[in-house]
Order: sequence, then C-alpha cells, then structure tokens
Amino acid sequence: MKRRRTAIVAGNWKMNFDHLEATLFVQKLAWMLKDVHFDFKKCEVAIMPSFTSLRSVQVLIESENIPIKYGAQTVSVTSQGAFTGDVSADMLAALGCSYVIVGHSERRKYHPENDANLVDQVRAVLAAGMKPVLCVGESLSERREGIELEFAVGQVNEVARDLSSEEASQMLVAYEPLWAIGTGMTATSTSAQEACKAIREYFDNTYGGETAEKIKVLYGGSVNSSNAAQLLSDCADMDGFLVGGASLDVEEFASIVRITQKLAGSFR
Ligand code: PEP
Repeated sequence: MKRRRTAIVAGNWKMNFDHLEATLFVQKLAWMLKDVHFDFKKCEVAIMPSFTSLRSVQVLIESENIPIKYGAQTVSVTSQGAFTGDVSADMLAALGCSYVIVGHSERRKYHPENDANLVDQVRAVLAAGMKPVLCVGESLSERREGIELEFAVGQVNEVARDLSSEEASQMLVAYEPLWAIGTGMTATSTSAQEACKAIREYFDNTYGGETAEKIKVLYGGSVNSSNAAQLLSDCADMDGFLVGGASLDVEEFASIVRITQKLAGSFR
C-alpha cells in the first residue's frame, strides 16, 4: 500500500542550543544527509529552535541552499503592540519559518495557553502563511479511564472546529501522549495508529475526505532510532514524527530522518 502524504520529521529543540550550537547542528545534519543522498522529496526535515536562533539558522539555510525547514515553538496571538516578550506570526514568517508548534503540552502546562488562545495562535500562523503543528494527547489519567481517543480528538476539535476546510487542510497534528514525552515510554504501534486514525477521521467527519487526506498526523513521545521504523511501518495514518530529546543528538536525529525516508511511500 502507498502513503499519499510526504512524510515529515520535525525536531522540537525546546529550550536547548544557543545560535552557535544551532547553526553547528544544522551544518552537521545537512552534511550527513547530503552524504547519503537524502531525498527530501520523500521526507521533509524540520527543526524548531529557540526564537534566538532563528535568524542564524535562516541565514545559514538560505545562503547554503540547505533543504531543511525550520519553525518556532510558539507564537503570540496578537500582531503587534504592548505585549512584552511576545513574538508575532509576521515576525516569524519574515524569518522564513515554515511551521509553528501550537499547544505543546509544556506550553499548556507552564503558560496560560487555553483552547481559545490556541485557536487564535492557529489563525495567526495561517494568516502569516505558515503551518501550525497542533499538539494533542492524553495524560495517564485519561488513558487509565480509557478515554484517550475522545480526549485527543476533543483537543483537536476545540481548536479546529471553526476553521474553514482550506485552513484546516494546512494543519499538522502531532499526537503526543503526555506520559510518553521525555519518559522513554513510547505508545505501542496499535495505540499510536488508533489515535492517528481517530484524528484523521475527525477531519473526515468535519471537513470531508479531501481535507482528511491532506492532514499530516505525526506521532511524538520518546521517538528514537530504535522505535521509529516499527511505529511508522505499522501505522498507516502516521505521516512522521515530532521528536524532542532525540532531536538534540545529530546522529540520532539523522538516523530517524533516514529511517522515515526509507519507509516513506509505503506501509503494511
Ligand atoms: C516533545 O516534547 O515534543 C517530544 C516528543 O519529546 P520527546 O521526544 O523527548 O518525548
């Protein structure tokens, strides 16, 4: 069987790497992928550095024509004005960002990012011509209650329900169960596929098949080079990964990216 969507592996660097470390990482990754004749048409590669590294990453990537994309880890819902410390979507777009993570569980936990705020973030990202990567996923308590699918799909619905189908089709959704983030515990292929499928079905029911077919659904939660192949080859509705910890090690990240490229275009 064939996957219809181009795979993507995105590295969420969180609050790691200053601009020197970030550019060194990008140089190494670019060199490693060039060395193996990596096919970026089969698998997109993206990194999400801190705001402070974006300009340096942009200059390197653009001046060397490196086919790696990049984005931000959050965005302000407002476009300008008296919002100390905030960064607008237009500012990110002006730095060449392709993606913005919206609603990562760490942002939901440590910052006042509620559903209304996340809807506005998604709208701001789309209006600036970038793509939002909406993170959803249940905690252990919802999983124990057996409501993990309803919970994750409910989080998608809270953010996506008022979008037009054109807007919705620009979204990426990362299913990231909280108990799997940074813990070394990964969802089984069965439960990851169930969640990715339920998310795609939500778009099918809400926006129709054409939109649902375009949505990229990623998995995140302790992905590494030892579990990526199994997850991707078992999960027909999974289009790639959002990688945290393992994206900080260039060899490990390059391995995940290569595994994804190899499996892109097929599933069991
Ligand atoms: C994340 O924080 O988005 C993530 C998936 O982290 P990790 O890969 O470290 O679990």
